[in-house]
Amino acid sequence: MADKTCAKCGAPLTRDDIGAHRKLVHRGAQSFYCKACLAAHFHISPAYIDEMIARFRSQGCRLFR
Ligand SMILES: [Zn+2]
Repeated sequence: MADKTCAKCGAPLTRDDIGAHRKLVHRGAQSFYCKACLAAHFHISPAYIDEMIARFRSQGCRLFR
């Protein structure tokens, strides 16, 4: 899982970016968008994605450990 980059803009990805992509797009995804590109793709704000990640993490979701 090292050195993953955004499939759209090439930005380095965090675990949160990858987790958010899996939640929003596809659980078994092999290429990922960064948070900014995900937000643009879904016409939502990056802050909304942050809130979503925080919510899933508080629920103990395995994607956001
Ligand atoms: Zn990107």
